[in-house]
Amino acid sequence: MTLITRLARPAILALPPSDIAGPPLPGTVRLDANENPYPALVATGGDLNRYPEPQPDVLRRRLADLYAVQPERLWVTRGSDDAIDLLIRTFCEAGKDSIGIVEPTFSAYAQFASVQGAGVIRARLDDQFAFNADKVIEAMTAQRPKLLFLCTPNNPTGTRVAPEDVRRIASALPDTIVVVDEAYIEFSDDPGLAAEASGNLVVLRTLSKAFGLAGARIGCAIGSPELIELLARVSPPYPLPGPSIAAALDALGPERMPLHRKRIGDLIAERERLAGLLDGVGEIRSIRSGGNFLFLDVVDPQGLARRLAAAGVRVRFRPNALPGGVRVSIGTAAENAALLAIFGMTNNTSNRRAELVRDTKETRIAVAIDLDRDEPRVIDTGVAFFDHMLDQVAAHAGFALTLTCRGDTDVDAHHTVEDVSIALGGAVRQALGDKRGIGRFGFALPMDEAAGQVLLDLSGRPFAKFEGQFETPAVGDLPTQMVPHVFRSLAESLGAAIHVEVSGDNDHHKVEAAFKAFGRALRQAVAKGSSAGLPSTKGVL
Ligand SMILES: *Cc1c(COP(=O)(O)O)cnc(C)c1O
Repeated sequence: MTLITRLARPAILALPPSDIAGPPLPGTVRLDANENPYPALVATGGDLNRYPEPQPDVLRRRLADLYAVQPERLWVTRGSDDAIDLLIRTFCEAGKDSIGIVEPTFSAYAQFASVQGAGVIRARLDDQFAFNADKVIEAMTAQRPKLLFLCTPNNPTGTRVAPEDVRRIASALPDTIVVVDEAYIEFSDDPGLAAEASGNLVVLRTLSKAFGLAGARIGCAIGSPELIELLARVSPPYPLPGPSIAAALDALGPERMPLHRKRIGDLIAERERLAGLLDGVGEIRSIRSGGNFLFLDVVDPQGLARRLAAAGVRVRFRPNALPGGVRVSIGTAAENAALLAIFGMTNNTSNRRAELVRDTKETRIAVAIDLDRDEPRVIDTGVAFFDHMLDQVAAHAGFALTLTCRGDTDVDAHHTVEDVSIALGGAVRQALGDKRGIGRFGFALPMDEAAGQVLLDLSGRPFAKFEGQFETPAVGDLPTQMVPHVFRSLAESLGAAIHVEVSGDNDHHKVEAAFKAFGRALRQAVAKGSSAGLPSTKGVL
């Protein structure tokens, strides 16, 4: 008998193995599932009238790739909450078996156990909320819970459980399945234990936190194929909504990864910045940070609750963890400013940022821009020379730019160059907000043997003029006829008058001069001056 068959509920072992059919071949006449043949009456209907795949193969493989495991070791679930529930229902006999938890921790473990009629064996973090593996082993050894849930970083305390502690616990408790909930692992320095999840070790991951998909409800359990096969038996027939599957695949497109990494980095930096600022506040006794949240111990939780309610700011009070325990998620710059204001701090960090996603049949584009920071610059459009030019624009304009595109470059560069220009202009415009305090105008004239001149007015009124000729059809993989087109697209999406003039002998230099000059002009136009007003006598821009 294997460990899994020894531990699983007999009723689950008695269920027939799930047989999951793959997606129907195109053209299949689908009269097998009592679906309604008519498309759903919503604009984004797709094939909503059809049941989704019970375990969507493409998403399963994408997640397996993301977590660097084989697909047969991973089971896609309706959020990782669902994975917790499936595990408990698979292994815990009501009235007989139990789970182990290390408190204070995520409340869903004990909740699902209670619903299943399973017991809960409780160990505790120490007074400083540090994790003590020996104490956990001691607390669990005699009682042999079927499942032991370890959360790292722990919600709500941020506590890290070291990988070597997990391994030691798993080997010290051979009759217990150790479930490591890594909901927030992307926000930590630990790579996670997915690669080691087999035998009595199971890892849970989710797209809800790091990948911004809480509303899609997609998570997974990673473990031995034998255990995964039992989870399949316990799963409802079609647990994952079709739009959620599609959204997850969209958001996890490989070309979107740079933006995910940037966001995660930003959230971590913001978490530490807030922790530093709140550190001096008298009514806060202590601050812990982990995941995408802070855990505060406040002197007067009731008083704080009143101030938060009055300001319309919601946080999570965690009195079971600590009488003054408050868990605060890291939000956008504006949301974090609202939080700081509760503690009497005004926040003067820049808010001139924008993110924009633009997907069409021809291109999939994601842009993040921060006008008041000059790093990072990560640009990948699939047109190498265009990447180089956009990098020049961002570098000379002095802003941070993460821009990725996957376009139909197998046809040619046209759609990619055009759509990226539209998206970039839109993102700059969005980041400028109400344009108060900006320079509005810019001009530049860098020289070589080639000269590029750009005059720019962020007037809100699109106009583009390009003067100059190219001798060659392309520089690198960028067709030269697209160069004037870029500035026209930018003028329209940015809402700007852009006059470009280039001259010289070498097309490469001329193109580069035009983009650099545009970057320089943009630098002056978006720069914040000493005046906070609108640079227009009309009062609108
Ligand atoms: C948020 C959270 C989850 C649930 O994630 P979903 O995938 O959205 O269900 C699981 N575990 C912990 C510790 C969490 O904080």
